[in-house]
Amino acid sequence: MITYEDFAVRAAQLRLGIDQACHKAGRKPDDVTLMAVTKSHPVDAAHFAYRFGLKSVGENRVQETIDKRTLSSDPLFWELIGHLQSNKAALAVRHFDRIQSVDSEKLVTLIDKAANELGKSFPILLQINAGRDPAKFGAEIEDAPKLLECALSKPHLKVDGLMTIAPLSTDPDVAKHTFETLRTVRDQLSGSFKIPLLTLSMGMSGDYESAIACGSTLIRVGSALFGEREV
Ligand SMILES: *Cc1c(COP(=O)(O)O)cnc(C)c1O
Repeated sequence: MITYEDFAVRAAQLRLGIDQACHKAGRKPDDVTLMAVTKSHPVDAAHFAYRFGLKSVGENRVQETIDKRTLSSDPLFWELIGHLQSNKAALAVRHFDRIQSVDSEKLVTLIDKAANELGKSFPILLQINAGRDPAKFGAEIEDAPKLLECALSKPHLKVDGLMTIAPLSTDPDVAKHTFETLRTVRDQLSGSFKIPLLTLSMGMSGDYESAIACGSTLIRVGSALFGEREV
């Protein structure tokens, strides 16, 4: 794990990169939230993010997050960005502040049920496989309207927007095309369902500039902040 000083240098550089990407796109830096992806790092990573002024952290495992939250007293917003198995849905609702990886009607139903039992209204993003990558989770683009309709019918869910992960590729156009697609899907859904779907969670260490150019409002950054993961 790197030191806080190293982290702060990386985070400041990243902030600069975000500002530049926003400037190029004619967008306000305040419109893009930087989420620190702390998965596979010790709880210190979340504390570094908090100390630097970030408000949310992303994790991909339920149990790892439960363990870290027990050790953390920082008032952070913990988000699940990894695939969620249906048998862990209720546990995830209990221990996360938002789930970004909702990609099936089955999960929608289970999360709503768990939120109801806890007496809360629970925020989610719908994960869409906008890059049509067979290696990625996420609902198919064609299934997005039906999934959204299902989510909107649930009284204990709040649909904040959409999330996607670009396919791994050496060709930057692949990510760009994926992000443009998600933006288009959002605009269409927002128009036909007459809801804002303001959050577009797209862009990571290697492709956040392109994501910002395509309208991302939330970038999920791990390695550029903390270095390469060991596991
Ligand atoms: C790991 C992960 C990230 C962060 O990736 P980096 O390339 O390390 O920035 C972002 N989003 C998701 C869904 C991830 O699993």
